[in-house]
Amino acid sequence: MKKNMRKYVLRFLGIGFGSVFIPLTVIIVVLVIVTATLGSAFGAAQSQTQYNGDGSLSESVLAYQPEVAKYCTASGIPEYTGLILAIMQQESGGAGSDPMQCSESPLNVKYEHAPNSIRDPGYSIEIGVMYFASCLRAAKVKSPQDIQGISLALQGYNFGGGYINWALARGGYSAENAAEFSQMKAQQMGWSGYGDIQYVPHVLRYYQIAGSGSGRFSYPLAPGTYHISRGWGMDHGEMHKGIDFAAPTGTNIYAVASGVVVFSGFGQTGSGYGGYGNVVHIKHDSTYSSLYGHCSKLLVRTGEQVQKGQVIALIGSTGQSTGPHCHFEIRVNNKQVDPAPLLNIGK
Ligand SMILES: [Zn+2]
Repeated sequence: MKKNMRKYVLRFLGIGFGSVFIPLTVIIVVLVIVTATLGSAFGAAQSQTQYNGDGSLSESVLAYQPEVAKYCTASGIPEYTGLILAIMQQESGGAGSDPMQCSESPLNVKYEHAPNSIRDPGYSIEIGVMYFASCLRAAKVKSPQDIQGISLALQGYNFGGGYINWALARGGYSAENAAEFSQMKAQQMGWSGYGDIQYVPHVLRYYQIAGSGSGRFSYPLAPGTYHISRGWGMDHGEMHKGIDFAAPTGTNIYAVASGVVVFSGFGQTGSGYGGYGNVVHIKHDSTYSSLYGHCSKLLVRTGEQVQKGQVIALIGSTGQSTGPHCHFEIRVNNKQVDPAPLLNIGK
């Protein structure tokens, strides 16, 4: 959220300063209302930092963890501390005195509305957290596992709140409607671009859905190779019984625990694996099994013993899939359960 705020808002409001005198307080009130309802202004952020390549948070970002947690609690969103840290990593890598890059937010009432004007990191975090909390509410995000809702909130954070209602009227966030909104806004503003249409994957590559890290299963993809594109739960009126790990075709998929492959092949309709495309199903013990769908290539055979961390397949988009990802399931007595609490990011 960096540039052109004043230009944007003035053009948006159509205020002509040459001919009409408008009291400053009125302008400020209007700015706050406009940005709160129609959005904003700080939509123009492109990626501020280079990707570190492994999905981990920098030392500087981690150092802000206690302060981020404090403001998240104050804003009523303590469970989203990890997500705020992911946003900070994307915005600044934790560098500078405005680590959340929110000097141009209308919520900033202490410093000039110009890039990097905030000289107090604590204030930057306070404003960034307050603004993101409003995006979470507007997007009706249900939990830290609600990736669909979180995606909507994140894109709204980058584009401005106006995107959230616009997208809700179209079924929520999608990469396609984010691109459409950006194009529409750029055209309206006469700008060459608007916002970061990749903001959702850019932030989510730093976000670990499990959080606690106490689970018995490792992640099916290596840190930094994926972002979670869909979580467990209701999504567009459909129950999604797994977690989707989006990654380029050919990316390695690892067994999350040792076990025996009970199925490796193309899931034919009626086989119990219909729609999964090329799929691997591994039984770990008499209770738990894990499943990896939509693979481009299968590297293990039915009946084979596999070790935890072994590469078992490659990312693809086979079966009912709209793009390269691994649909990952954990099953208890062959019924899908939310994998997030069972995963351990530490492997
Ligand atoms: Zn899925």
